[in-house]
Amino acid sequence: MRNYIVPTVLILVLNSFSVKSSPVKPKNLETCQSCHPLVDGKINVHLVPHSHDDVGWLKTFSQYYYGTGDFTTYENAGVQYILNSTIKALKAKPDRRFIQVETAFFWKWWLHQDEATKQDTIDLVNNGQLEMINGAWSMNDEAAAHYQSIIDQFTWGFRILAKTVGECARPKIGWQIDPFGHSREHGSICKQFGFEGLVVGRIDYRDKARRKSNQSLDFIWKTSNNLNNSELFTTMFPDFYVDEPGYRFDVLHGNTIEDSNLNDKVNGFAKILDTYRKYYQTSNIMMPMGNDFTYQVAERNFKNMDKLIKGFQNHQTYNVFYSTPSCYIKAVQDEVRQKSIVLEEKTDDFFPYASNSNSYWTGYFTSRPTLKRFERIGNKVLQSVKQLATFSRIKDQDHDIYTLDLRQAMGVLQHHDAITGTEKQFVANDYAKLLDSAIKKAEEPLSEIITTLLGKNGSPNLNLNFSSCLLTNITVCDNSQKERFVVVVQNPLSRSVTHYVRLPVNSDGFKITGPDGEESFDVFESIHKFDYVRAKIASKELVFAARNLPPLGVKLYYVEKTSLSKRFKPFKKLTEDLYFGTKSNGFIVDYASGKVKSVTIKGITRQVNQEFLTYRTTSSGAYLFRPYDKAAAPIASKVGTYALGSFVDEYHQVINTEVTQITRVYKGENDAYIEFDWLVGNLQYIDSYGKELVTRYTIQDFNNNETFYTDSNGREMIKRQLNHRNDYSYDPSSSPVTGNYYPVTSKIGIKDETNKFQMAVLNDRAQGGTSLTEGSIELMLHRRLTQDDGLGVGETLNEKQYGQGLYARGRHFLTFGSTEANGTAAFERNLAEEVLLSPLVLLADVSTEGLTLEKIQGLLEFKFEGLTASLPQNVHILTLEPWIDSYLLRLEHILERGEDEELSKPVTVDLNKLFTLFSITKIRETSLGANEFLEDSEVGVTKTVTLEPMQIRTFIFETDGNNSGGNDDSDGDDDDDYSKGGDTNLAKYELFRQTRVPPPLRPSIRTGRERQVGKPYQEKLFTLQKAQSGRWHKMDS
Ligand SMILES: [Zn+2]
Repeated sequence: MRNYIVPTVLILVLNSFSVKSSPVKPKNLETCQSCHPLVDGKINVHLVPHSHDDVGWLKTFSQYYYGTGDFTTYENAGVQYILNSTIKALKAKPDRRFIQVETAFFWKWWLHQDEATKQDTIDLVNNGQLEMINGAWSMNDEAAAHYQSIIDQFTWGFRILAKTVGECARPKIGWQIDPFGHSREHGSICKQFGFEGLVVGRIDYRDKARRKSNQSLDFIWKTSNNLNNSELFTTMFPDFYVDEPGYRFDVLHGNTIEDSNLNDKVNGFAKILDTYRKYYQTSNIMMPMGNDFTYQVAERNFKNMDKLIKGFQNHQTYNVFYSTPSCYIKAVQDEVRQKSIVLEEKTDDFFPYASNSNSYWTGYFTSRPTLKRFERIGNKVLQSVKQLATFSRIKDQDHDIYTLDLRQAMGVLQHHDAITGTEKQFVANDYAKLLDSAIKKAEEPLSEIITTLLGKNGSPNLNLNFSSCLLTNITVCDNSQKERFVVVVQNPLSRSVTHYVRLPVNSDGFKITGPDGEESFDVFESIHKFDYVRAKIASKELVFAARNLPPLGVKLYYVEKTSLSKRFKPFKKLTEDLYFGTKSNGFIVDYASGKVKSVTIKGITRQVNQEFLTYRTTSSGAYLFRPYDKAAAPIASKVGTYALGSFVDEYHQVINTEVTQITRVYKGENDAYIEFDWLVGNLQYIDSYGKELVTRYTIQDFNNNETFYTDSNGREMIKRQLNHRNDYSYDPSSSPVTGNYYPVTSKIGIKDETNKFQMAVLNDRAQGGTSLTEGSIELMLHRRLTQDDGLGVGETLNEKQYGQGLYARGRHFLTFGSTEANGTAAFERNLAEEVLLSPLVLLADVSTEGLTLEKIQGLLEFKFEGLTASLPQNVHILTLEPWIDSYLLRLEHILERGEDEELSKPVTVDLNKLFTLFSITKIRETSLGANEFLEDSEVGVTKTVTLEPMQIRTFIFETDGNNSGGNDDSDGDDDDDYSKGGDTNLAKYELFRQTRVPPPLRPSIRTGRERQVGKPYQEKLFTLQKAQSGRWHKMDS
């Protein structure tokens, strides 16, 4: 049940408060930058040496790092050699520059270096020769990645850079040169990190041509419809991110400059520049000098560039020099100011990306649907575990280190060849394995955490061995088939929700005891007999309602098998049209077709039908969606079976061997949506054609005027118009379908402005989607293809498991309502949150432990509340996690301006009595990436925070709770243990709290002297400066 009541401790404020939104420029950051002088009257050519290091693609992340494989092709390159050889080459000549991008690689490398190399690295960053740029764990995809995970993976990268290299390693520029299209939300996030600019790469070929001809490759991107100050300087290269043919000096590519060809090389380069200078308004050109995995023998690259630069020394037109993107952006911005140049403004995004008239990169929006879903599960577990680790630290236990693998795995999964599904199959398997083991690691301390939070007298010595049963989607879970088991349901949302727990079982009778006594339940047959799965599958599903889960809280349920009950609802065959649901929410299935024919939401009924369709294809690939047919062919539907339960009514259809579906409506007052639980797989080729399977929801008598709305990374909605682009002229005739596909990270909607009505479909993973006909919403579910699309991955997307085409299972949530009535948009926002962050359901077997209900009741409370009250419906705690010796908190306003008359207003949250376990004693505001304090960042004694629509505010705080816990690191020595423990021995790097922690801070009486002794967080954020004696890692000890 959603809580719509505004609690008394929180005040909805209707007038607008002043908002701090621009990060302070750190005073000394200018000194980290070292730009070569520009020459007035010449064209300044910024050579930017870089290496594009994919965090997995044709090889796994680890193989790329180590250089596994032979040395004949670039993908066999090893990143460790790139860093080592570049450091040497930079040290050799101080005018050389290089940028380091992917922090996942940097960190792995750092752990293997000796002190001297680390010191060299720090020196090179401090003197501006080596610039840390972007700084995220990976260069994330911008279509399928969710904003929560994007923010997380940047934050983690920033934190590693600050802790290893120090303040000069704080990235100032976004570098997204390879993702397949660019999202506006990603630009907005970069702006909120305090970035001074963003370099993008792949945009539609027509847009690129237009920008060249009207000199708008440098432009101003208005990255938000809601936030003030959202304008971000954005730029792109004239061509691709790679060096020009003939100037590819890398050992992998072989060009060289010799005495005999120097003049030719200089003249040839000048010729290229003659063309490129016409594309820009200022007298600056940025030239990429690198490619994928280049600079393994960096001296070769630099030696040749040295010669090229020297060759231009007295050139009349061009001043050629080593540079970095931040130096380029600074130069351009200075000139723009001086000459009052007006740069073009952009307001939408760069989707879909077409590299030519027959190559729309819209297939990857859906490719590898199960990996895309698994990534979301990873996010959900990570958020829950971070919250629980926060509460457990207050209770004197420090388990934060268990989240390390999952933070990093999630960073890797965001990479533009990971979540996109454009990697080789064995690399996709490796990503899944990485995430799976990280989730298991993160869950290790959960027994201790949960029993401590629920323990009646402290922490009972109970090892409940909780696990989250990741295979419930294929009806596999060992614990739920035991005689007695405990179910813990943790709500990661900051408002109360009701969650319907669904567990695979093999019997009918249960007694479920929760915090409010005995709970009712339903038992249904499973959707599908997953007989091919080589595991213990269950044939039935137990459903019960975990009602009113407290915000950031936990409820515990004790489940015992009993003799057969009357709860089991065997399926009946449909014999006539039938209404499912309650008076408020439901749907009618048409007996003749077997399809849904109408839907009722909040008492309003509309004719809505749903069908599955297929596109045939011969030339789609992991990246591209190239349908052979101009329109999709419908799959004949079939009449199904049904069961009516006390919580939920279900309609089951086995349409054919490829498509099975349950259509559901839950019966709670606020369950104002219809759920479509689809299972699609083992797609069969049609003759020589591959198959791309979609579902389409169509509402009758609906005029959306060829427009629809898709979300940007799960956040702001962007208006799309069929067969239209805002920035360039667009001929849709050759691509009527694929050219209208957009990424749907979490929601797609249509509006009938005349009849003031809207419909939306939310999904549980990123997919491609569109609206091709009036009233319709289409989403692609799965793809099985016959050939590679020639864009590098070199493999056909043809996922298999258990000897057949891979099945994917997922859910869509359909809802609609008046555009005028308040609450429709807000409901969609809340539902999207509940889909993204559904409760963490943990199970533990108690049948063999002698842990009877009475015993558990004696030891544990069945409920824990994390917040004193629900936050207002429009506010969400985006992040709550232990942060070294402090805590990180992000609050967000989840509505856009104008979405709701009331809930789109600014909202104020009182932090004073927010948490049940502790009070916040000291709190400072940072930029979004938590690596920079804002001006006037101290939140006053009142500790209230006001949020504007769509605003995220980030804080680091301390508490009056028990801060004196210890972690598992008992040897207490800070020496070079990293070399023994490899990546896992991370407490040594103070990424997590040390054994010796300062006593709780008392800010009201703390003097300057005590501040030094106590080492509070403000010093700790950026204290790793130049190492004094090579013992850089001891700075904070
Ligand atoms: Zn790449």
